[in-house]
Amino acid sequence: MRILLQFPEGLKQKALEHAAALEKEGHEVFISASQTFGACDLAIDEAKALKADKIVHFGHNEFHKTDFNVEYVPYRIDAQLGILRDTLKYLKAFSKIGIVTTVQHIHQLGEIQDFYEGNGKEVHIGKPYGFAKERGQVLGCDIGSAASIDKEVEAFVYFGGGIFHPIGALLSTTKPFLAADPFNNRVEFIDRYREQERKRQRGRIAAALSAKAFGILVSTKNGQHNIELARLLKGVIESKGMKAAILVSNSIDFEALDNMLEFDAFVNTACPRIAIDDNARIRRPLLSANELMDVIRIRACGEEGRR
Ligand code: SF4
Repeated sequence: MRILLQFPEGLKQKALEHAAALEKEGHEVFISASQTFGACDLAIDEAKALKADKIVHFGHNEFHKTDFNVEYVPYRIDAQLGILRDTLKYLKAFSKIGIVTTVQHIHQLGEIQDFYEGNGKEVHIGKPYGFAKERGQVLGCDIGSAASIDKEVEAFVYFGGGIFHPIGALLSTTKPFLAADPFNNRVEFIDRYREQERKRQRGRIAAALSAKAFGILVSTKNGQHNIELARLLKGVIESKGMKAAILVSNSIDFEALDNMLEFDAFVNTACPRIAIDDNARIRRPLLSANELMDVIRIRACGEEGRR
């Protein structure tokens, strides 16, 4: 079989080892050297160019259905759970807690739940909206496991490395949010990012209020492609007497966008994290679809007020 292997950045160091094992089984093996953002970003074009029979995608669960033959190999990490004991002093005031984690630690969720229940906590584990596949799992673009239990819990605990994954969940919930990072042995409330991001969001909206031409970003990555939303937003913008064009690329290239001087603001329809994480990489406002609707609503109120 002809196989294309695809690894997220953190696992690319294991590529040769996996390729060698499959070659020993008699397969012809290629390794994708492109950046891989998630299972939303399957290397189908590369696989088709190679006439590969299959993609083996490491590190993530299935994200969405595709006609291409894809085998998903999630990467499980058995992180030390000792850090949970350190979280207890932060959680003294809370008896009902929600737990979220990433796909790498999802198999440890049962043990984490047992630990907190053994320490007198009522534990809630929510369901994702659909891109994530497991209860308690959060993705940058699927925060259902946290948002669905926001009303039931008094605080959240995120177990895992870094803060990329919990930030989306944090922004869509209202309760204190504790991050326990077993790799850096660090426990901290990350609620400050909520207000920080809301401030940035208000700034983006304010900066886009005078925009007359919008570039609507569409990614050709299979799991991020949202042309229907882009068409809808273009129609909304034009119906308000402003200009809009749909800008298509695979990855968002901020240097290329900087050269597109006719646009006063951009609207993202690809990975929802781009508007949050990458705003500093571009000199004009980069809005989410919801933020664009806020811009339009505020402008309409302003025009109404001037009449
Ligand atoms: S957060 Fe973005 S990069 Fe990650 S899986 Fe979702 S769409 Fe893909």
